[in-house]
Amino acid sequence: MRWHVRTTSYRTGDIVQRSRRITLAALTSAVLVGTAGIVAVPAAQAIPVNSHCGTESAGNRSAFVTHDQLTRQLEQIESTTGGIVDVSVAGLSNEGREIYQARVGTGDTVVLVQSQIHGNENHGTEALLSLLKEFGGNTAAAAEIRENITIVAIPRLNVDGGERDTRQNHMSWDEVVEDFPQLAGVDPAWNYRADVPGFDVNRDFNPDLDYVPQPEDFPGDSADTGWYITPEAQTVRDVYAGLEGEFGVVDYFVDLHNQWPCYAQEGTGDMSPLSISARFIADPSEFGDWPNFDYDASRRANVAVYDALQGQGESAFGDLTLYPQDTNLPGTALGSFALRGSATVLFETSSNTQSDGQKRNGFLTKQVEIGLRGLITAVADGSIESLDPEAYEAIPERIYLPAD
Ligand SMILES: [Zn+2]
Repeated sequence: MRWHVRTTSYRTGDIVQRSRRITLAALTSAVLVGTAGIVAVPAAQAIPVNSHCGTESAGNRSAFVTHDQLTRQLEQIESTTGGIVDVSVAGLSNEGREIYQARVGTGDTVVLVQSQIHGNENHGTEALLSLLKEFGGNTAAAAEIRENITIVAIPRLNVDGGERDTRQNHMSWDEVVEDFPQLAGVDPAWNYRADVPGFDVNRDFNPDLDYVPQPEDFPGDSADTGWYITPEAQTVRDVYAGLEGEFGVVDYFVDLHNQWPCYAQEGTGDMSPLSISARFIADPSEFGDWPNFDYDASRRANVAVYDALQGQGESAFGDLTLYPQDTNLPGTALGSFALRGSATVLFETSSNTQSDGQKRNGFLTKQVEIGLRGLITAVADGSIESLDPEAYEAIPERIYLPAD
């Protein structure tokens, strides 16, 4: 086996130097007026130097691994850690690409983390590759994590979307009907886009891991559960079910995404490069009896992420915000697995590949690493248990800004 060494830089310092200052006064005033009741922003206040708001052309993916590079990097991590990081194929995508899982640690508490369920959201994958190397390493901190936790990572779940740079996977409704003949003649799922063709895989989940698609459940909608009709969601379901069999409950589930590049933090007006959330289900009883649902555990996990990103000596790392809290998304992986009892954390880093170039990539990847490392460390040393779930409510909210 030949190993390739990538030349991509993960440095963060250059981001600070290359970003430019813009003023809030230059942004569309209507948005700020519309939120004036909760935002006190001096009109001429400069956005921090880390800001970037649609000022860079998008579509440059050279900083992100291809599927072949992902494969080689995972093989290399497994080799250099002497198998401490154990890499295997968890399933195959609809186009037949390998979906990998990497497992490290032997503790009784399990953390399942996945990235790139949306194919054009890459930063979480890069962060996972970096953290897997770290957690498989020789440091005392890594050894403590491995002793107390079992980490299972699925870097780039949507490998077809990753190669094609699409949010969706690559699968036609006809292929779904081939797999599930009982769906012949029904309207395609609401999260299907025929022009791709493909599905938003992150609406294909159901808290019932044994659910079988029923014609009367289609086309469905955002406020209802999904079906496991995509091979990608089926792969996560199978990994999750296996971990439940092994550990009882999958203690933590983290999903790494990207969002619109231009948000500010309520109160300060600072650009917010990351939003997080614990909340995906408005009323758990709406979807049956799920006695292990534990919103406070999810809130503590998010507080651990928030705390880790404060005081990093890089001010923008601390400017994370809460994702909208009025959502009800039982068909997402986070929603379904929260119902089953996982403490859940959503990461929404600024900018997918269609909305940003590569100037901020190092910074954006690094903040995911810091936040996720903070959560895992707090779980490993037990300190997460002493966090106040109510502290979650004090995390600033996110404010939409138009691209300039
Ligand atoms: Zn996403």
